[in-house]
Amino acid sequence: APTNIKVRREARAALVETSELPPLKNYIDGAFRDEVSGNVTTLVNPATGEAIADVPRGTVDQVDQAVDAASAAFPAWRGITPKERSELLLKIADRIEEHADVLARLEAFNAGKPREVADDDVAGTVDIFRFCAGACRAFTELGSAQYVKDHTSIVLREPVGVVGAIVPWNYPLLMGAWKIAPILAAGNTLVLKPAEQTPLTTLKLLEIVGDLLPDGVFNVVTGQGREVGARLSEHPDIALVAVTGSVGSGQAVAAGASESLKRVHLELGGKAPVVIFEDADLPQAAEALRAAGYWNSGQECGAGTRVLVHESVAERFVELLVEQVSSLVVGDPAAGDDVEIGPLVSKDHYERVLGFLERAQADGATAAIGGGAAEGAGFFVAPTVLTGVAPGSEASQEEIFGPVVTVETFSDEEEAIRRANEVPYGLAASVFTRDAARSLEVPQRIDAGTVWVNSHLVLANEVPWGGFKGSGYGRDLSIYALQDYSRTKHVQINHGR
Ligand code: NAD
Repeated sequence: APTNIKVRREARAALVETSELPPLKNYIDGAFRDEVSGNVTTLVNPATGEAIADVPRGTVDQVDQAVDAASAAFPAWRGITPKERSELLLKIADRIEEHADVLARLEAFNAGKPREVADDDVAGTVDIFRFCAGACRAFTELGSAQYVKDHTSIVLREPVGVVGAIVPWNYPLLMGAWKIAPILAAGNTLVLKPAEQTPLTTLKLLEIVGDLLPDGVFNVVTGQGREVGARLSEHPDIALVAVTGSVGSGQAVAAGASESLKRVHLELGGKAPVVIFEDADLPQAAEALRAAGYWNSGQECGAGTRVLVHESVAERFVELLVEQVSSLVVGDPAAGDDVEIGPLVSKDHYERVLGFLERAQADGATAAIGGGAAEGAGFFVAPTVLTGVAPGSEASQEEIFGPVVTVETFSDEEEAIRRANEVPYGLAASVFTRDAARSLEVPQRIDAGTVWVNSHLVLANEVPWGGFKGSGYGRDLSIYALQDYSRTKHVQINHGR
């Protein structure tokens, strides 16, 4: 049943003019190329359900052409100095910054993002290019030494070659940038596939920066995971394939990569536990979750979605969280820059999230706020807090990927840690406590790639991002991403006389 959540829908103006759309074509070997198969994907504005544009679906042939272009471009690209590569990456960052407004509006239009989220995505995109521009100049070789008499060992880092990158719809531009910047910085060339629902900002990016790079260094082929993504996974001339997406897609990519034994970099789903101890600053924790649980409508792999709160403070915490959630402004991103929660990205995903909510409530959970869809057009789900969620139930274990925070209780620290780790994912987690020893010890026992203490979802491009267990392996951001997109070589010189 629809909830009585108020959705602001009065658009003030069109978010995007038709003239601002990028060429709806794949970008191969330095130019936008016509696609001949005639198959298209119709993009939809999730806030209204209206069609935006038809984008051609890339084909296996186009992937092959793009890989050929990237292979041909690789020797020259790896041959330029880190300083030259760095200067190009800085120019790319400047161009993106100059076009920040149109990129943010396109992202809002295509993915239903509130302006605040879209702006943050573009700012993060600019900064990861700047970070990688600096990092690649400090990242060429590991060093040299004599380990054997009269023999000098030199350990080199080299690019891996052509990289395939597969990107999800939740942060179309930003997740692309998290791959593009370190892949290029480390001296590789690439072929990138945006998510089928959200290719606009990736194509716009090529329109904006394509001329800065040599032909073939950065290619984009839109299209379906099972076709374009699968070909990227299998292609014998691709040395490494990186995917951000669901567990199922990660498994398919790893299976596809096995024949050629290419390297695989996986940033998959999450179900981040938020452990709130009895000594926590409860208002601060509730405020942190207002952002961490609902940012990007909860379509966030690191979202703080699974609260485990000490039973003695659970009731108070739920009151505080509901108070925070009730003040979130839900609406069409076109209805104002103060909208905080937009629609979910697509009808399919909206129905999936509503299915989780229905089954959780049928299973005995209670919506302390929200609990279902909003009436009217668009794919809006009310920001929701579910209490009475049974440990081990679907809502407690599976990634809902919507504006939904579940609350469970625990009675002691051991139980909290055990239950925090009792999910198939291991991407992120947080602990709220004012106890200094606890804040050091508990994170070390939590099986997640990132553990925050007294915050959640605060990121910086200098720190590694990635998971354990079902969340995959490999690291985005930081110097670790450059490492992941490089290979290590030992050269030993015998200079004995
Ligand atoms: P998805 O897995 O449906 O799609 C991701 C990408 O994989 C798309 O480009 C898709 O076309 C492609 N794909 C799908 N099947 C494929 C196949 N068989 N072979 C090759 N490629 C294939 O994921 P989504 O729904 O777009 O994104 C949501 C998921 O991404 C969530 O699970 C979320 O947690 C995860 N995610 C993870 C991170 C992270 O950093 N760990 C960041 C953002 C999103």
